[in-house]
Amino acid sequence: LQFLKELPKVELHAHLNGSLGIGSLRDLAERLHGSASEEFSQLCQRFIRFDRDSDLDACFEKFAFVHELTSTAEGLRYATELAIRDFARDNVQYLELRTTPKANGNYSRREYLQHVLEAIGEARKIYPNILVKLLPSINRAEPVAVAEETVSLALEFAQSHPDLILGIDLSGNPGKGRFSDFAPILSLARDQGLKLVLHCAEIENPVEVKEMLNFGMSRCGHGTFLTPEDIAQLKSRNTAIECCLTSNIKSGTVPSLEEHHLKRLMEADAPKVICTDDSGVFDTTLTQEFLLAKETFGLTRDQCVALTLEAVQHSFASVEEKQVMAAKVKKYVDSWQ
Ligand code: IMP
Repeated sequence: LQFLKELPKVELHAHLNGSLGIGSLRDLAERLHGSASEEFSQLCQRFIRFDRDSDLDACFEKFAFVHELTSTAEGLRYATELAIRDFARDNVQYLELRTTPKANGNYSRREYLQHVLEAIGEARKIYPNILVKLLPSINRAEPVAVAEETVSLALEFAQSHPDLILGIDLSGNPGKGRFSDFAPILSLARDQGLKLVLHCAEIENPVEVKEMLNFGMSRCGHGTFLTPEDIAQLKSRNTAIECCLTSNIKSGTVPSLEEHHLKRLMEADAPKVICTDDSGVFDTTLTQEFLLAKETFGLTRDQCVALTLEAVQHSFASVEEKQVMAAKVKKYVDSWQ
């Protein structure tokens, strides 16, 4: 555990509002409302509790609780700092954070992104050991017009923050919206130089999965219902599949850890990375995810290191940044020998 905890890890699939654990939610409530009440603490407990029959829809409802706390500029900025703090405490050295720009009475989508970008900049001074990048998300449950605005803002901010905004994520409840409706705007984003990370095969939908695989992506989110042929196709293109064990179990898309598709991906020697998805909602850490993979599939220490180096390679960091990250991992491993 100590080895995994201190390993300089790489997190490639983390949603901002899903990455606030109970401690951070309490800190956020204290900052915004003076002190976290007993009632709030109970709400937090309910937030991380999952029933045996919890499904994806139940998970998506949970986000509303956090979204309320981040519905002001102050809440959003502090939440960004707290999410980064928690990953830094888990010795994550590189984080690609995703978030869906939102608009309400307190901020526009443009301001939402500005707040998050500024908060990332400020967090850099407090947590210099973690390098953070941002992937604005398209929520597939929202209209295509919103996705168009998100891509347009992402492209604009990528000009002013070329080292920070590297790609676009397609996420949201996979039971809602149609990939084909978003394909044109995603295609435009890609043509303009943004990488694409698509939540793909999170539920069983073979027609859409084929559309997505033919369209192509830089990394595949979840990939739970990929067929052996799909996996072979991703492997042939060196497209990594982002595996989120606890998330898949708690949201009910995978029946047990033993049946998690990470095993099939390892057997197929397909590119894969271990990620948290929503460390707050699912009450986990990247260390914990590695530990689960180790305990369930008997991963050796060397395999955990190899998975971390695989994540370095599949990140959207620059060549120089990747070299620094890999060197940190190697130095750490050497210090244990
Ligand atoms: P946010 O974009 O920072 O608000 O992070 C929470 C949002 O991420 C949720 O409301 C969903 O739209 C999205 N999200 C989080 N986890 C998942 C997942 O497992 N599948 C698809 N979308 C997700």
